[in-house]
Amino acid sequence: MNYFQMVGFNGKKNLKLLMGDTSFDNLRMIDKKVLFKRHVEVINLELSYECNRKCDYCPVSFSDRQNSQSYMDSDLIEKICTELSEIRYDNRISLNLYNEPLLDKNLADKISTIRSYLPTAHIGFNSNGDFLRLHLLKKLSHSGLNHICVTLHPLPNVHQDSTMIQRRLFKLLDRLSFDNYTDELNIAFIESNRSFSLYVEGVRIIIQWPDWRREGTNRGGTLDKNSNQKSKRTSPCARPFREFTIFYDGNVQPCCESFHDNKLNLESVGNILRQNIFDLYTSKKLSLMRRSLYDFSEKTGICANCTAEDFSSYSEDESRKKLISEINTSSFSPEINCQTKFD
Ligand code: SF4
Ligand code: SF4
Repeated sequence: MNYFQMVGFNGKKNLKLLMGDTSFDNLRMIDKKVLFKRHVEVINLELSYECNRKCDYCPVSFSDRQNSQSYMDSDLIEKICTELSEIRYDNRISLNLYNEPLLDKNLADKISTIRSYLPTAHIGFNSNGDFLRLHLLKKLSHSGLNHICVTLHPLPNVHQDSTMIQRRLFKLLDRLSFDNYTDELNIAFIESNRSFSLYVEGVRIIIQWPDWRREGTNRGGTLDKNSNQKSKRTSPCARPFREFTIFYDGNVQPCCESFHDNKLNLESVGNILRQNIFDLYTSKKLSLMRRSLYDFSEKTGICANCTAEDFSSYSEDESRKKLISEINTSSFSPEINCQTKFD
């Protein structure tokens, strides 16, 4: 089942509204909040900038993110939390995009702040695990963290075999004083699984070792800029419906596949510093982008060559195109096209 089959859209009304239908009355703030609350499943909130690694399948490898740190302003964190508390946001918050969250010495305090505003949200982050230690995990647990997903990334251009993965896994478990796994984590397990999960100090830790060189995405085509391989995307994408993505500087992007840094002047949906989160989610720009991503038409802008997976079936294309044709956009000026602006 894909997102559109799983989520109830109030008949088709919410789906049309999220794609910019203007035949209903102008959206009031309460309508925008309801749309956000009902349809956003994960907020990507990047609290810091730097990553200590430069994995060869990640845009960080050619970015100044390797050696330059900055943090999301604390006032901005409070602003975002205040707005989300107005709808008692209780879904997932993921505290990373292209940063390593554990490089931030004040991470636990920031999580405490978020938790105080959003007591029922599920707060977690991805990490490369290099700085994960038991004493730090205790602190993070007290701050209200729910989970960490640690990826055992290989060094650039190094092949990581099962023995190396096992050794790294044991080392990490040892640092967390976790020895409750007996013979379970043998080589056969490493080879036939891609992850192992455990609870330490009440925090769920998922340790994974996928082969991102083979299975990873091209980060909205960013990685393709350095290769000759380009495939045209026609498949739909649900991410700008179900995700809300805020980078370290307040820049809002349509999804976590967008790569934003100090050098790239990527067109944004807007900036949370100056705009309300619910206005941005229901903005014309994001609505038009969602519409262009709903059917199997050729994609443009950052989506043109994106390899992010989608579970839609081509058999749905006809009904999706029909729904798009029913969307009333009479009050939109025809030249607005976020897709071309996302180049
Ligand atoms: S994949 Fe993760 S750990 Fe590797 S460079 Fe990118 S952000 Fe850093
Ligand atoms: S298709 Fe576009 S919106 Fe979807 S993940 Fe790729 S870049 Fe993001």
